[in-house]
Amino acid sequence: MSIREDALQGRMTPIFEACAKNEGVSPEFLMQGVAKGIIAIPKNNNHHFEKIMAVGQGLSTKVNANIGSSKDHQGVEQELQKLCIALKAGTDAVMDLSMGGDLNDVRREILRNCPIPLGTVPIYQSVAEVVENQKKDIGALSVDYIFDTIRQQAEDGVDFMTIHCGINRNTLERLRGQERLMGVVSRGGSFLIEWMTYNQKENPFYEHYDELLAILKKHEVTLSLGDSVRPGCLADATDAGQLQELIHLGELTQRAWDAGVQVIIEGPGHMPMDQIEANIVLQKRICRGAPFYVLGPLVTDIAPGYDHITGAIGGAIAAKAGADFLCYVTPAEHLKLPDGDDVRDGVIASKIAAHAADICKGVPGAMDRDIAMAKCRNALDWKGQIDLSLDPEKARRFREEGGTYKGDACSMCGSYCAIKVYKKATLPQRQVVE
Ligand code: SF4
Repeated sequence: MSIREDALQGRMTPIFEACAKNEGVSPEFLMQGVAKGIIAIPKNNNHHFEKIMAVGQGLSTKVNANIGSSKDHQGVEQELQKLCIALKAGTDAVMDLSMGGDLNDVRREILRNCPIPLGTVPIYQSVAEVVENQKKDIGALSVDYIFDTIRQQAEDGVDFMTIHCGINRNTLERLRGQERLMGVVSRGGSFLIEWMTYNQKENPFYEHYDELLAILKKHEVTLSLGDSVRPGCLADATDAGQLQELIHLGELTQRAWDAGVQVIIEGPGHMPMDQIEANIVLQKRICRGAPFYVLGPLVTDIAPGYDHITGAIGGAIAAKAGADFLCYVTPAEHLKLPDGDDVRDGVIASKIAAHAADICKGVPGAMDRDIAMAKCRNALDWKGQIDLSLDPEKARRFREEGGTYKGDACSMCGSYCAIKVYKKATLPQRQVVE
């Protein structure tokens, strides 16, 4: 029985109970959300960890951090360091996007050290192995090889997989019928388009979708339906190609649910701020409320080096409008493989976006920490402020760098500290009234 089938039959299991405890909701609420498809619990049978989390309606907005080796940076040690940094910064999930080194070894090592859900994009491994090890073109990949990779990753314990099932011939036709500034920027999507063009065949994930679902269900892998045609620049946002793929994703969502597989939908991409809410509404409507996993979205194209900020602005707007899961963007986006500092900055930026949205989404208790912070600020309680910070290390370092006003006000206003001045001005009067 899969998690979804248990939910549909109203069978309470330890997974719902453990997840509910972490989410601060009742197990029944979670079970009903999974049955409706509006909540997903990414948890492979073979990945054992305690911090079972869920994404979806009525829950806090979650953050994912991408790590992974590349052809030029193949060491697993560096990726394990990034994993530690992402965990410390508070990420809720991690995706291993490795394409360099022994990919089975890298993934298994990351999985062994990952106490939260781990996702992958299996086509990356298939492509890296055929191109680097076998010295062949992407088009030479056999369908069996592609599915064997998925099977292997599922058996190893991957909790959720991004699979680009919606880029079929029909979507490609729609895409070719319009002018795009940037074509396709999804790595997985571009691989599949090359495969389809080379072989003159339908996308194997679309054509053999039932076989894919059977593998995912067997190992309890949540399907993250990839958006191959996501806009790679503002000018390409919300065009016919993107919407055509979304319509296919809606159909594929229902088929996955019918097969007992949990689903998350991936979304854009680059997008002007005024289109974000409409995109969330469309996705939720077309995909029947399935949890939405947004990649950013980045609200301007002109800030390389600062795309954790452009992504966090878009993420906050998206989450407030109903997106459930934010894929972080790092300052290294578009420029290089992120290092540890980039990973931390990316996670923190997305956590800020998620938290800011949760306050407006009515997530129970979302504002408690803000109120506690305000009380500490008013009391000039620096330890309390640092402890409540999303990045306590940075807050502590800045406080210490401030130097001279330790233990009292800070070096911003010094003896003119507004909090102190106000208290001094009003406290005696209050005492008189009392
Ligand atoms: S000195 Fe200024 S910035 Fe610092 S705590 Fe007081 S009011 Fe705030």
